[in-house]
Amino acid sequence: MIKLKKEYSNELLEDYYNKGLKYTSKKLKKELKNIDSIEDKYKLWKICSVSNISRLLLIPPYLLECEIEKVEGLYPDFYEYYNIIEYFSSAISYKVNELKIRSVEDKRIFDRECIKLLSIISRSKHQFPTSLVIDYVEKEITNIVNDLTQLTPKSPRSEYKKRIEKLYIIMQGKGIDRFYPTWIPIVKKVFNYSGFIDQKFAIKMTNDLGIGVCPYCNIEGIEPDKPDSNDKVYRPPLDHYYPKSLFPYLSISIYNLIPCCTKCNSTYKGSYDTYKNKYRNPYSSGFCSEVIFEIHDKDRILKDLETGYYDANEIEIICKINDYIGNTEDIFRIEKRYKGQFAWKNAALKILKSYSDSNFGTVFNHGAKIFTKDVYIETVTDYYKGESALRQSGKKYKLDLINQVYGLEDKI
Ligand SMILES: [Zn+2]
Repeated sequence: MIKLKKEYSNELLEDYYNKGLKYTSKKLKKELKNIDSIEDKYKLWKICSVSNISRLLLIPPYLLECEIEKVEGLYPDFYEYYNIIEYFSSAISYKVNELKIRSVEDKRIFDRECIKLLSIISRSKHQFPTSLVIDYVEKEITNIVNDLTQLTPKSPRSEYKKRIEKLYIIMQGKGIDRFYPTWIPIVKKVFNYSGFIDQKFAIKMTNDLGIGVCPYCNIEGIEPDKPDSNDKVYRPPLDHYYPKSLFPYLSISIYNLIPCCTKCNSTYKGSYDTYKNKYRNPYSSGFCSEVIFEIHDKDRILKDLETGYYDANEIEIICKINDYIGNTEDIFRIEKRYKGQFAWKNAALKILKSYSDSNFGTVFNHGAKIFTKDVYIETVTDYYKGESALRQSGKKYKLDLINQVYGLEDKI
């Protein structure tokens, strides 16, 4: 995790702020018309008032968590509604709808999945002990499941479809809206992220922060193409540090949006609940000595290199976690990603080899002193000390290995 050291320019923040206010006030105006109760109108307006949105748009990273605590305390039903929906939709991730139910085997799989679903629902009772919705959903799903078990693989597929669709409607939370005040589901419509930041603006944000490499993994490049090009251009993903599905009122807060790579955003993080399972926000902090990469058995490899060839595949990289880093490692699987790729083993071998060669007097410490130590290391290992880690893939990894092999104590 690399800290985002550069701040957004005032010009960008101003643009963002104006854009956000205009966008949300238009949505709020429309949504207020759909609410009858004065009390609900007032509550929606309270969270979506100009002054509150002004604050939320540019709320600093260290206050994001306080905001969640505040909303959770003020409106426990709000918190429950979004959490229940997220909980249920993750429960159906096994894609029952993709089953064709054409054979006895398909039917068996489907029945098994339904039983699994019911056990997930009953487990949710521990998570939401006071919720009335859980009982309702459990009852509804039991009915659908019972109904489904009456069908056979020979029953018309339309019969299956009908029931599966019903199951989906409930699990996606559509049937549960009526248990909550109207303003609660509407909040996500006012703070509707999709359609808020277009490709041009995402590129502008990434460029403004000077990011070319993902701050989470420091592996994948996210450098956008020319913003004014009409060709297909890469849109750097913006990860919601606190997921928008759980905390919709933070979905357009600029410091809740982290420019990062597709792998970190979609494959690894998804809508992981970062409020319950903490990790670091790169706007506030990165890693230095808390996480250190190391080459296992470095001295033995150096000895082998003196006598000849060494296979990069045999190198084992260790990732030492020296301090509390929250759930960052669990979420992004950093160690696994560096360990698993040949390119990184090869980079480690290059560093070891450069050190071994330097000991033969051909470079800085005995011979003609053609290079300074820094220039030598940079040239032979493709490590650039002066270049930001946000523009250099694997800088933190290489820095740690160079420190280990050369006995240095450089920092990022
Ligand atoms: Zn990444």
